[in-house]
Amino acid sequence: MPLTGQALVTGGAGFIGSHLCESLLRKRFRVVCLDNLSTGRRENIAHLTDDPGFVFVEGDVAEPEPLWSTGPVDLVFHLASPASPVAYLKAPLETLRAGSRGTEHALEVARRWGARFVLASTSEVYGDPAEHPQRESYWGHVNPVGERSVYDEAKRYAEALTMAYRRSHGVDTGIARIFNTFGPRMRADDGRIIPNFVRQALTGEAMTVYGSGLQTRTLCYVDDLVEGLLALALGGASGPVNLGGTEERTVLELATEIARAAGGTATVPPVEHRTLPQDDPGRRRPDLTLARDLLAWQPRTSLADGLALTVAWFRERTAGAAPATARPGEPVAR
Ligand code: NAD
Ligand code: UDP
Repeated sequence: MPLTGQALVTGGAGFIGSHLCESLLRKRFRVVCLDNLSTGRRENIAHLTDDPGFVFVEGDVAEPEPLWSTGPVDLVFHLASPASPVAYLKAPLETLRAGSRGTEHALEVARRWGARFVLASTSEVYGDPAEHPQRESYWGHVNPVGERSVYDEAKRYAEALTMAYRRSHGVDTGIARIFNTFGPRMRADDGRIIPNFVRQALTGEAMTVYGSGLQTRTLCYVDDLVEGLLALALGGASGPVNLGGTEERTVLELATEIARAAGGTATVPPVEHRTLPQDDPGRRRPDLTLARDLLAWQPRTSLADGLALTVAWFRERTAGAAPATARPGEPVAR
């Protein structure tokens, strides 16, 4: 079968990036995966390295050099950035650079080769939202000087830069605002809610609930998210367009559902309340009307099915090895 085209995926050795590389290879793209392995892992892409269509380049997207050596490409996906609050609070300057210089370098690659560019933006651009659910027309409620601003403002700048390249240089761009996504290959120690709760459920530790646990999130299974990113890349929409789940839950509800998915029988699992991180959004759910209208996309995996698949993956992988729970502001182990 002939190749469909060539794609560059920055952050391709990370959780979402590795699933995206895999899908692109299945669609017969040649894939260049650029990653500095700061939060990503070689083992996420180990099964792809024998594929003649896959090339891994270890490098920092904030440094221009590694990107110029990628050769001609038709698609550029820019995912390289710390993504978990634990990771970006530990690396604030690197996070700002990945969103600013890194985005500029990835956009330059797209401009140079006439490629379509897709930015992995985030629901964090809405901050602690005053509107619910969040539509793309909402400008957000972000604390520009709080701890989380290194991530939120880097992504807001990345969106602005993407639109400026589109307007000033005619680069064909699309912006995806990704809401909380989960699934296999999340790091057990990355500090986000799903790996923390799944690990705690499997080891019988108390679930670490930050604040009251009444804050909400709406989770999307990674396979669905990747389909949304591909629909955006292969279509012509500029966005921004929300990509995320439909089943909104409080953190406490998630604790219960994950405990059950892990085989727990208690009506309410043991929880340990901890301090709520600064500017932690109180509620979050995407309005997916645009994604449906522009991309004909909607998530297909139920929360229950996604949790079952994720718990099974963690169970298999982490048997016998249980790293300590990471919290925002604490180091992430490599
Ligand atoms: P991840 O940490 O698993 O992946 C990020 C990848 O980027 C890692 O492999 C890391 O090593 C790499 N990276 C970081 N800085 C880099 C740099 N300077 N140069 C090269 N590589 C670098 O996280 P993820 O959840 O897979 O997130 C991927 C993207 O999706 C990120 O841009 C994130 O902001 C965005 N996103 C994710 C979610 C989510 O819920 N998972 C939600 C919103 C947005
Ligand atoms: N959270 C929690 N316990 C944990 C990890 C996270 O209560 O062990 C909460 C966190 O405070 C937030 C929600 O779960 O309200 C989602 O956090 P996560 O770090 O996964 O992503 P965020 O949506 O904050 O970027």
